[in-house]
Amino acid sequence: FSTDKDKSAVAKIKVVVRKRPLNKKELGRKEEDIVTIEPNSNSLTVHETKQKVDLTEYVEKHEFVFDAVLDEEVSNDEVYRETVEPVVPAIFQRTKATCFAYGQTGNGKTYTMQPLPLKASQDILRLMHHTYRNQGFQLFVSFFEIYGGKLFDLLNERRKLCMREDGKQQVCIVGLQEYRVSSVDLIRDLIEKGNATRSTGTTGANEESSRSHAILQLAIKKSADGSESKPARVVGKLSFIDLAGSERGADTTDNDKQTRMEGAEINKSLLALKECIRALDSDQGHIPFRGSKLTEVLRDSFVGDSRTVMISCISPNSGSCEHTLNTLRYADRVK
Ligand code: ADP
Ligand code: MG
Repeated sequence: FSTDKDKSAVAKIKVVVRKRPLNKKELGRKEEDIVTIEPNSNSLTVHETKQKVDLTEYVEKHEFVFDAVLDEEVSNDEVYRETVEPVVPAIFQRTKATCFAYGQTGNGKTYTMQPLPLKASQDILRLMHHTYRNQGFQLFVSFFEIYGGKLFDLLNERRKLCMREDGKQQVCIVGLQEYRVSSVDLIRDLIEKGNATRSTGTTGANEESSRSHAILQLAIKKSADGSESKPARVVGKLSFIDLAGSERGADTTDNDKQTRMEGAEINKSLLALKECIRALDSDQGHIPFRGSKLTEVLRDSFVGDSRTVMISCISPNSGSCEHTLNTLRYADRVK
């Protein structure tokens, strides 16, 4: 006997779409909601308004099917249960799990992603204190961002970091602060601190952070004999990636040189990510990590026993139709 939940727990790659509600601005402009989701289904339809040569309008419907489709009524708790919760126990068994939030700026990536590591660490600590009591497991948190192809530590005053590969092809981020945590309160403080440190530039919150990938990692470690005195090695890892705004990858024709370069870098990383996930799914052995800084950094999460959850965040408004279709096509290719 196997339930749907069991299936989702073993799936190597899971693609979930989350639709946010229309916001005040969109309602003010009387924009239409063009994304329909049947209750309890895993498909959605985008209604695109097009014009014929004689300028009469018609609606083209695009239907997509994913592992799960979450409408605007779905809470963050339910998002957690659908995406990350099923993979948590596996990280005690050497699994590396990664959860991505993908989509245009303003679609709810950060809103979706922020609560997930906290809920996951609650569950991890519970497992450590009960199921795996006295087995020497330890939980560590790190938080950094990739901006313009460079790494910055979000838990250490945005210090610039370097990546190095050791002889065994393990990636190592030199100088990255890692905090050992044993309480949910401490984790909450660290997440808040990291979020406050994220690139906000001078123009305000979403503008700059939309050009960076934020990576929060929870690592489970264990010392050889389960004692506190010996150095601990990584058993499993759970990574949360709040990706740069997908529309930023198109900033490659901007007049500003800096913006253009950043756009090219983001475009490269989102394409490389898609290729890596597809390679993972086909079990073809060769994973093209080298395509970007993002995929190089995540290299050790793509090898061995890995799980990937992609949450694609979409807007419902008619003005975002083209972006929404692009986001869904990206998610469709990953699936
Ligand atoms: P992104 O990180 O993709 O740029 P944000 O997470 O910052 O987008 O979301 C943009 C705005 O929309 C925020 O004010 C956020 O609170 C709101 N929002 C996003 N998703 C939802 C949702 N599912 N329900 C309610 N509000 C949401
Ligand atoms: Mg954001």
